[in-house]
Amino acid sequence: MMLPDIFFLKHLLQCASVTPDDAGCMDVIAQYLQTTPINYHQGDTNNSYFELGTGDTLFLFVGHTDVVPPGPLDYWDNHPFSCQETNPIIARGIVDMKGAIWAFCHALKTVQHKLKGRVGILLTSDEEGDGQNGMQSVIPKLQQQGFLAQWALVGEPTCVNNIGDYYKHERRGSYTFNITLKGQQGHTAYPDQAWSPNTALSQFLISLQHLQETLPEHHNISLFSVNTSTSTSNIIPQSISIGLNLRYFSKNTIKQCMTVFQQHHAAIQEKPGALPYQAKPIRLKEALEQAVASVTGLTPQASIKGGTSDARFLKPIAQEIIEFGLRSEYAHKINEQATETELHQLTNIYQELLLNLLSKT
Ligand SMILES: [Zn+2]
Repeated sequence: MMLPDIFFLKHLLQCASVTPDDAGCMDVIAQYLQTTPINYHQGDTNNSYFELGTGDTLFLFVGHTDVVPPGPLDYWDNHPFSCQETNPIIARGIVDMKGAIWAFCHALKTVQHKLKGRVGILLTSDEEGDGQNGMQSVIPKLQQQGFLAQWALVGEPTCVNNIGDYYKHERRGSYTFNITLKGQQGHTAYPDQAWSPNTALSQFLISLQHLQETLPEHHNISLFSVNTSTSTSNIIPQSISIGLNLRYFSKNTIKQCMTVFQQHHAAIQEKPGALPYQAKPIRLKEALEQAVASVTGLTPQASIKGGTSDARFLKPIAQEIIEFGLRSEYAHKINEQATETELHQLTNIYQELLLNLLSKT
């Protein structure tokens, strides 16, 4: 295998760090960087902060060592935590996001002697789970200490077809509604003596379609479940429950949805999820664009696709925030994989980025 410091990547990938178990990843990283981290462990979660260099300026890399469970092992071409020397490398977490941790640490080690200022690496072992003990618990502690980075880069997989095609600087929020349309239970042989759930449901779905069409750009509402209060073939059910998930930037769209649902006399349960975030990186975005162009020849575009990430918690401790990592295609999948070329490109981009922002000359 041609990757530099492949032993470090292999050690990381061989830690079976299914969320929230760090499974020794932080120790592997500390050994590679030859530095002792400051720990902010919370409950069953390892949170560690590594820092190299001196000076006022601080560039921060943010990530997670935990991975999602591998699923049925029989379906994998090789054991998900064995890290065979194949190309592509097939391993749980290579994309999301141990490949990016390797790439960043390797980039830093390679160019460190050319940098002024400090480079920090903030990692948690609880991003893939509920995250309660992860960045959410660390950021307020750092903020209390007056921690402030000029630039923060989150190494989540953001690219789509090629390394360098997409980055992220904003993510939509998530909001869930459980809608119950109530009627009167009855016999399916005597529908005139009960309500018509057919009509109620179809009218609701027509409104939902109209609602989707009137939401602002990049907002969408998706139906994820439909359930009835009984499932017996000769009973008209008393109620129908509908699960909906809104992905949004504008809070007003939550009200807009509620207004539509109320028109159907529905009982509504609301479950707020992650809040939206919009960072506006300027110097960091320029530096990343330059780095991507010099390594790949591409001009990266902003993307809002994908779920939520820890980037949304960073605002109190970072002036500019961006997310950039490997291609997301294989994240969380059986046979999660990345090629040597992709890993090479990512580490070269991170090197260029550090040089663009922190070069001594
Ligand atoms: Zn991730």
